[in-house]
Amino acid sequence: MHLPDTMQAMVLEQPGKPLVLKTVPLPLPKDRQVLVRIIACGVCRTDLHIVDGELSKPKLPLIIGHEIVGVVVKKGAAVSNLREGDVTGIPWLGYTCGKCRYCKSEKENLCENALFTGYTIDGGYAEYTVAYEKYCFPIPGQYANASGSPLLCAGLIGYRSYTMIGEHVTNLGIYGFGAAAHILIQLAIFQGKKIFAFTREGDANAQTFARKLGATWAGNSSEAPPEKLDAAIIFAPAGNLVPKALLDLDKGGVVVCGGIHMSDIPSFPYSILWEERMIRSVANLTRKDGEQFLKIAPQIPIKTETQTFPLHQANEALLALRNGKIQGAAVLVMSPRG
Ligand SMILES: [Zn+2]
Ligand SMILES: [Zn+2]
Repeated sequence: MHLPDTMQAMVLEQPGKPLVLKTVPLPLPKDRQVLVRIIACGVCRTDLHIVDGELSKPKLPLIIGHEIVGVVVKKGAAVSNLREGDVTGIPWLGYTCGKCRYCKSEKENLCENALFTGYTIDGGYAEYTVAYEKYCFPIPGQYANASGSPLLCAGLIGYRSYTMIGEHVTNLGIYGFGAAAHILIQLAIFQGKKIFAFTREGDANAQTFARKLGATWAGNSSEAPPEKLDAAIIFAPAGNLVPKALLDLDKGGVVVCGGIHMSDIPSFPYSILWEERMIRSVANLTRKDGEQFLKIAPQIPIKTETQTFPLHQANEALLALRNGKIQGAAVLVMSPRG
């Protein structure tokens, strides 16, 4: 296959500055890596946290983006499973060491030597990228396009958060109704849960969207739900939602914080945590999460709602996400050059 020597990429040179469209050398796959021509890359809130400098250790300069759907166009010498022409999904978890105590105890999401796509290694706001074969997921046929991108982080992190809510949950509250929530609600309803969706104050569009997807109730995050919740998942990066969610929870319930960054959590009286309520976070993903979720998604089937942008409009896509203007998920779609 003829490959170009260079590619277009939107590059983060410094946090706090807009991404810059650049022509950069085509990356070369190492022994255990594949070179992937990117079809689409989702725009995640984590990308905003990186651009804003809220996550402190980005590689610089950096190509962000960790919801990549693409086609393998070249493979390293030691690649064993993927073949040229395979459609593959590249998630946030880009590499783990396999040797640390977390890797050895099935917690590779906490690996001490992990690399993260679009953060500590280059990601998907580009025409091509390289990825370690073992961290690529097979993508079911119907998702081999922009609609598959949001599954790779919004979907996966939502799924991992969902696996943390415990048994016997009927009433599930979701705080922040963006990309992750619009995917997770489909799985949760499929499994018989009642969903209570909390949005920004007065965000009637998001509330209508949540009801359309089957939410039992949708309202402002300051409102009390009509019934007590068995569990709550917070996707919005607002720490003040933690005590609010505790107030909405029934005894023994858990608040799961699904984001990588959150504003400070205000202090709250012990009485709202009492009675065995819990607060926990979710960090990254394991490959097992990805395999499980990507198996379930086509069975439901989960349908993502995407708003697409060309690569060179990545800054506009990030701004739209920041301003709450995206219904569902924003996705960059690459146009192949001839
Ligand atoms: Zn490790
Ligand atoms: Zn993400």
